[in-house]
Amino acid sequence: MQIRIKNKNYQLPIYLPDATLGVARNLDSMDLAKVGLEGVMVNTYHLIQIPGEEILQKVGGIKKMMNWPGFVSSDSGGFQLFSLIRKNPDMGKVTDEGIVLYNGPKKQKKTMFTPEDSIRMQFALGSDVMICLDDFTPPEANEKRTEESVMRTISWAKRAKAEFTQQLTKHGFEENNRPLLLAPIQGHTNDKWRAYCSEELQKIGFDIYGLGGWPFLPDGKFDYSFCEKNAELTSKDSYRFALGVGTPENIVRLFFMGYQFFDCVLPTRDARHQRLYVFKVDPKALDREALRKLAEENRLNEIFDYTYISKGKFSTDNEAVSEFCDCPICQKTNGVPQVSKAYLHHLFKIEDGSAFRLASLHNLRTYVKVIEILRRA
Ligand SMILES: [Zn+2]
Repeated sequence: MQIRIKNKNYQLPIYLPDATLGVARNLDSMDLAKVGLEGVMVNTYHLIQIPGEEILQKVGGIKKMMNWPGFVSSDSGGFQLFSLIRKNPDMGKVTDEGIVLYNGPKKQKKTMFTPEDSIRMQFALGSDVMICLDDFTPPEANEKRTEESVMRTISWAKRAKAEFTQQLTKHGFEENNRPLLLAPIQGHTNDKWRAYCSEELQKIGFDIYGLGGWPFLPDGKFDYSFCEKNAELTSKDSYRFALGVGTPENIVRLFFMGYQFFDCVLPTRDARHQRLYVFKVDPKALDREALRKLAEENRLNEIFDYTYISKGKFSTDNEAVSEFCDCPICQKTNGVPQVSKAYLHHLFKIEDGSAFRLASLHNLRTYVKVIEILRRA
């Protein structure tokens, strides 16, 4: 399975690391390419604050600034603004026109962030996969709030698509080399409103449909049934993006539900917290069908594991972080890994910046390996 993004075809599924401010923390674009990544997820709202639209336009967009050979996906900025407002209602409010942000103590200054603004800014970033501004349905929403967020998400998606179409013409994109547009489906776990949202978005027509909302149960467990139901709402051949998902196990299980795009902060965040992903078996011996069987039998824990490199027992361990990993740090010369567990343990202990980089390289390579197995028919 493939998708064409601008003038390049990409194999699916695909995983994008978090690069909120145009950098996957502690790693440069050469590092990302080295471990086999092909796309990154940046944040529109944060990049428009810094370095700002004017600088981005002068340097030719974020991809050019990063000198990144892959594609860039940008989220709308909505999720960050909703989180800000949910934490502190004095920060702003959501209206049918867009998100109002208050500046100053007495709410006397206002700025408006509309669905059109978000798309215009994503063109300024030079993004390849753009995401419509949506009205996130909070998990605690009642029927009325759920209906409101769904109706607003549909109306905003319509406006975003109109702006996107105009910007395509303005920037001279042709049909076979244009960026793509994604619309998230909202409605939380309310089957009626989520189905309605999906139906209306498909009438407008988008390249990719996103898993909007919060895929977790009240007890914190991942909500697979929510993700499965959501995937069934879009037509069979749709491209589906599991926004913000997830662990290697989540990715495998959602791939078999019909999701092809994943982006998640976990591998780089866990790397900074000294949590490293390892395979229990040689991934070379696995293919898509093997993973399908393990997922169906709920046995994925037989292949995925974690190593907590801060544990004292690793202080004298000369072995590689993972015997099955071919990342730049686990690669062996004459049987000796480039970076041993003992050395990585030491680098974290003395809080050297290189520890974050090395651990992130390893974790991201493990994610790419999972994707490679899923592509291996
Ligand atoms: Zn490794």
